[in-house]
Amino acid sequence: MRRIHLLFDLDGTLMDADGAGGLALRRAIAAIPGAAEAFAAIEFNGRTDRWILREAGRRSGLPETAFIEAYLSTYPRLLTETLVERNPRPCPGVPALLQALAAERGVVLALATGNLREAAFMKLRAIGLDGYFDGGGFGDEHETREAMLQQAMRETAYVEGDRVVVIGDTEHDVRSALAVGAIAVGVVTGNRSAATLIEAGAHVTLNDLSDLDGALEALLRAGE
Ligand SMILES: [Mg+2]
Repeated sequence: MRRIHLLFDLDGTLMDADGAGGLALRRAIAAIPGAAEAFAAIEFNGRTDRWILREAGRRSGLPETAFIEAYLSTYPRLLTETLVERNPRPCPGVPALLQALAAERGVVLALATGNLREAAFMKLRAIGLDGYFDGGGFGDEHETREAMLQQAMRETAYVEGDRVVVIGDTEHDVRSALAVGAIAVGVVTGNRSAATLIEAGAHVTLNDLSDLDGALEALLRAGE
């Protein structure tokens, strides 16, 4: 049977972490000498954490491994704190959509997010949606979103002929989806416009995922 692999971006797509991730990141960086200035100049959106850390390490002049070790030694604990301080919430319609998708035969759900694997599940746990996902592709393991998507496809046991649909809120999600031959569904629940996502090549864009039937149709039939 031909399966459908739905690979979801996290921030701006499944949830709004209310800045908890960025806040934890800034606090972790503030604790590393020389790193704060290096981080100030980096555009995070759509980047993987690994890319961000390597870039910040390069700009701060610290050896990459020392920089990443220093970061990882504090970030998960800080994220636990900021998820409590802030008000993380699912994007509109996401809980009902995931529940409906989990009941569909031949549909596999996975994550494709620039977050660290551990952080992605911490964020989802904060809104009670971690149980829908076993794995995916993550930003601590791969530097590009294409490599992340390929990892997610390995984790969902993709075989030739299966359909792969990437759901995301930035042009980075869309472009990486096209690069691996997947269908790109753009959602306008982050900070990008529908026009930006369409221009990047999205097969379909949705204002949000709150229309359950419309969302199911888009995710399961897009690009046919
Ligand atoms: Mg996103």
